[in-house]
Amino acid sequence: MSTAAPAGFTRPSFVSGQKKLLIGGRWVEALSGQGIDAIDPATGQVMCAIARGEAADVDAAVRAARRAFEGDWRRWTPHDRRKLLLRAHDVIMDNFEELALIETLDMGAPLLRTRGLKEWTSQVLQFYAGQTGAAVSEAPPNNLPGHFLTLKQKAPVGVVGGIVPWNGPAIGQWWIFGPALAVGCTAVVKPAEDASLSILRTAELLQEAGVPDGVINVVTGYGAEAGQALAEHEGVDRISFTGSVGTARNIVHASAGNLKRLQLELGGKSPDIVFADADLDKAVPGAAMGVFTNTGQVCVAGTRIFVQRAIKDEFVERMRAFASGLRIGNGLDPQTQIGPMVSQRQLDRVLDYVGIGGREGARLAVGGNRLGGAHAGGFFIEPTVFAEVTNEMTIAREEIFGPVASVIAFDDMEDALRLANDTPYGLAGGVWTRDLSTAHKVAQGIEAGTIWVNCYGVLDPSIGFGGTKMSGFGWKGAREHVEGFLYQKAIYMNLD
Ligand code: NAD
Repeated sequence: MSTAAPAGFTRPSFVSGQKKLLIGGRWVEALSGQGIDAIDPATGQVMCAIARGEAADVDAAVRAARRAFEGDWRRWTPHDRRKLLLRAHDVIMDNFEELALIETLDMGAPLLRTRGLKEWTSQVLQFYAGQTGAAVSEAPPNNLPGHFLTLKQKAPVGVVGGIVPWNGPAIGQWWIFGPALAVGCTAVVKPAEDASLSILRTAELLQEAGVPDGVINVVTGYGAEAGQALAEHEGVDRISFTGSVGTARNIVHASAGNLKRLQLELGGKSPDIVFADADLDKAVPGAAMGVFTNTGQVCVAGTRIFVQRAIKDEFVERMRAFASGLRIGNGLDPQTQIGPMVSQRQLDRVLDYVGIGGREGARLAVGGNRLGGAHAGGFFIEPTVFAEVTNEMTIAREEIFGPVASVIAFDDMEDALRLANDTPYGLAGGVWTRDLSTAHKVAQGIEAGTIWVNCYGVLDPSIGFGGTKMSGFGWKGAREHVEGFLYQKAIYMNLD
């Protein structure tokens, strides 16, 4: 395994110095004057610093967003916004290689993944460009005496606060920028302190594409400071939050002052159910990468793999072989499949869970070790498979957010569904079988917002995904997502 960058690699010039905040179309320093180190997770080295925005910076950004919302932006037609989004699409595509490099450097995901998101990002931007007419009006017949014209209209909610996690900011930002630009909202985005750089660079590119001053603002900083201030700010009409359940609870409380609309996309402990009749040549790599992709730092990761008892031993052996064959290393190496964890903190957290799994009686089939050692500086861990796990064990109940799969045996469909649904989460689930009836019944039976059959993790922005139970509420992608950035009004017009 090589943790070093490939020979001859030079960092994009953007990844240097102290970055600023984007407020009202200007790049400004944080009022605190302080920075937060941006660390390359593959080496542990400081690359540059982001600004430590706090409540006063958030206040300035929200005011700028409000001014923009009430200014000329309001008069942009759906066609104007569509043209803007299509220009943004072209600028982002022209600079995608740089964005992919920045994301890889900042949060560790391999270039194989970050570069691979180009087509998907293109689709996302084109999808939102197609949604600029979402604020439709209707004039339905009414039952009022005399002559009344009744109109039902939709209008942008106003200023949206976006709070983004570190596990894929280059993707996560579009769930805010996309619908906000499509329907005429304005936004203040608070990236995660561990990975802000791709959002900052994207914001520059959006300016280049012609996004008016104040329509998109970015305030970097810590969650408890900038994030909390955004959630509390009474000038914010809606919060789109993606992150952990604990933080979501804070946000619910913080947003109570002006009763903000909330969209919460939270964690999961998703079941992936493999029946004995499944095609294991597909199910093994599919279920394995359903956990290991992005080094397990994926909200929908299918971390509880339920395997029908008859094939359990074969399945575990194949998972072991698959996990052992993955190429782990610095994400800048184009061959790397699995990069480092985002931070020392996340690495320690995952290693803790590995220890807990062993102590509670699960059998470590493969992995579980830090790679490269502390001296190498990077935050690497082996893809890990636990066998003989029961659904009561801590590793089967808590979201680990690392490359740790728990294999749990089941007897029949009823047993599988009972175990799969025995979780407070409801984000996603998967089923592998050749039997159509089994596939349908299990897809109906899993209590989760997104289900994959004989595949895992695919996502079309025009279809979207979402969660239920403690995985949050509010759909991401598709028309429903855009609707969340609108409010409805009725107009009663007396014509007499
Ligand atoms: P986190 O909740 O710690 O942080 C998410 C964001 O919230 C960061 O920007 C952080 O700075 C901010 N934040 C922290 N405290 C805050 C506060 N008090 N007020 C306002 N903002 C605050 O989550 P994380 O560790 O960065 O991300 C991992 C979590 O995100 C996992 O639980 C994962 O499942 C979830 N996630 C969910 C989805 C989804 O779409 N469902 C996608 C990606 C990640």
